[in-house]
Amino acid sequence: MFQYDEKVLKDQLLELIRLAATDLPKDVVESIQAAHQNEEDGSAARSVFGMILKNIELARAESTPICQDTGTNIYLVHIPEGLSMRKLTKLIREATAEAVEKSYLRPNAVDSLTGKNSGNNVGDGQPYIHFEEWDNDTIEFKLMLKGGGCENVSTQYKLPDVGLSAGRDMEGVYKVIIDAVNQAQGLGCAPGILGIGIGGDRMSSHMAAKTQLFRKIPDTNDNPDLAKLESRLKDDLNKLGVGPMGFGGNTTVMGVKIGSLHRLPASFFVSISYMCWAYRRHSMILKSSGEVSYD
Ligand code: SF4
Repeated sequence: MFQYDEKVLKDQLLELIRLAATDLPKDVVESIQAAHQNEEDGSAARSVFGMILKNIELARAESTPICQDTGTNIYLVHIPEGLSMRKLTKLIREATAEAVEKSYLRPNAVDSLTGKNSGNNVGDGQPYIHFEEWDNDTIEFKLMLKGGGCENVSTQYKLPDVGLSAGRDMEGVYKVIIDAVNQAQGLGCAPGILGIGIGGDRMSSHMAAKTQLFRKIPDTNDNPDLAKLESRLKDDLNKLGVGPMGFGGNTTVMGVKIGSLHRLPASFFVSISYMCWAYRRHSMILKSSGEVSYD
């Protein structure tokens, strides 16, 4: 049976939150650096990317949040057989409240009925935690902080979409994704990264889209058809000219990641989870020996 020390694990989770809020992952920084180099000297886009990169460095050096909106905290947790999800949930909630005290996170949990802020970023469904059991004798915590601005431009389509001449096929999927990014221009703090869920029901489709955002930017989809669609969409979306923060430029999206689910014959959903440049995600693996590693 996997065992852990609760106090030690809570502190390790606090470190995971600190990293997620203050230190963008290497693949994201490298992608922003490449986008910076890909803009013309003196252009607004190059200057915006320069400011973004300075902001990233400062946040890392001072352990302060990369953006004032520390976002919805989304956890994907893999556990070995027999581990209590209830106990891990309690530790994550405690670490979250402590992260607010240390100013790694902003108190972002507002009661939807009363409008009252809980004050510690903990509330009903906040943080959001999804557990899955796996065969490994380790626990993996994946954490993503998703800002409100980019969440507000995330969306879901139902095919066919007559207005867009988008049918119930991959060409239809392509068309609605292009439309979503066009609709988002000037909003959501571009350049974006798109997590796409094809199929499922309204809920599982959104979940599939968000889960895609845990992938690394340079990876390639295992499914060759989806890999081709990801690459085509990235190239074509970057021809839209929206650019960083909508100032125009060569990089409108840094990546497109697509997953698919079986669906009912009657339904064909395409969900688009739009992530902003402040693409905050880190993970932590805890071994049964107590050894911990962060990525
Ligand atoms: S969308 Fe992202 S970068 Fe923009 S304000 Fe929200 S968290 Fe910050």
